[in-house]
Amino acid sequence: MGLLDGKVAVVTGAGGGIGREHALALAREGARVVVNDLGGARDGAGSGKAMADQVVEEIEKAGGEAAPSYDDVATVEGGQRIVQTAVDRFGKLDVLVNNAGILRDKTLAKMTEDQWDVVVAVHLKGTYCVTQPAFLHMKERGEGGVIINTSSTSGLNGNFGQCNYGAAKAGIAGFTRCLALEGQRYGIRAFALAPVATTRLTEDLAMFQDESFAGKMDPAHIAPLVVFLASDLAKELTNRTFFVGGGRIAEMKVVTAPGSTKTEEGGLWHPDEIAARLDEILLPE
Ligand code: NAD
Repeated sequence: MGLLDGKVAVVTGAGGGIGREHALALAREGARVVVNDLGGARDGAGSGKAMADQVVEEIEKAGGEAAPSYDDVATVEGGQRIVQTAVDRFGKLDVLVNNAGILRDKTLAKMTEDQWDVVVAVHLKGTYCVTQPAFLHMKERGEGGVIINTSSTSGLNGNFGQCNYGAAKAGIAGFTRCLALEGQRYGIRAFALAPVATTRLTEDLAMFQDESFAGKMDPAHIAPLVVFLASDLAKELTNRTFFVGGGRIAEMKVVTAPGSTKTEEGGLWHPDEIAARLDEILLPE
C-alpha cells in the first residue's frame, strides 16, 4: 500500500534536480505521474524531450506509471496542455507540484529587461498558468486536491544578485497564501516550499561552494515533504510555507510585530515620534 495509491500527480520541471526526485517519490508511493519538462538549458534556453522521457522511463522501470509532457509552463496554453495530459492519460488530477525554474542572476544595476521578464515568466506566471487549469479541474471534480508551489529563501529572505528571481519567488509565496484561502471551500490544500539542494541550478552559486554544504544538499531530501503534504497524512494542513533541505524541515512565516498604535491626534504620527518610538515598532533583532 502506497500513501498515494489511486492519485494522479503533475510535477513541472521534473526532468532533473528536485523535480525529478519529486516525480520518483510520488510514483514510489503509488501516484501516476505526469513528468513535465521543457528540456532546455539551465538558463531556460532551448528545449527537448530527453529529460522528461528519461524520468518517465525510470518510473516505469521501477514498476510505476508515468506520462511525459514537454510543454512550457510560462504560457497559458502550455499550462492547459500539462493539466490536460493528466486528464487524458490518467483520467484526473489530484496533486500539482509547480517546480519548473530557471536562473538569470545579475545585480539590479546590470539586469536587462529580458533577464527580468524571462525569470518572472517561468516562475511567477508559470505558477499561475499551470495552477489555474488544475484548480478549475479540482473544483469541478469536487474531490479536493493539493497544490505545492516552489518559492525560495531568495524571495522570502533575500539574496544578493537575484532581484528578478527573488521577486518572482516572493510572488509565488503570496500567490500560495491567497490560493490556500480560495481553495479551502473546495478541499484544495496549498503549500509553498523554500528548498535548498545542489542541482545544476545551484552548483555554481557561492553558498554551494561552502564546505558545510558538501554532500549534504541532496535533492532527494526535498521529496519526502512533498509526499507527506500530498497525502492524507497532511489532510488537516493547508496554507503553510516550509524551508526544506539538508535534512532540515522548518515552517517559515511572515511575522508582524505587536507594534505601537497612536490614539491621540486622530492616530496621525509625526515622523519624529516614529523615530522616538522605533523600539516599540520594530521586531527584536
Ligand atoms: P533544475 O534546473 O535541476 O530543475 C528545474 C527544471 O525546470 C529543469 O529540468 C528545467 O528543464 C525545467 N524548466 C525550466 N523552465 C521550464 C519551463 N518553462 N517549462 C517547463 N519546465 C521548465 O533546478 P532545481 O534546483 O531542481 O530547481 C527546482 C525548483 O526549485 C525551481 O523552481 C528552483 O527555482 C527551486 N529552488 C531550488 C533551490 C535549490 O537550492 N536547488 C533553492 C530554492 C528554490
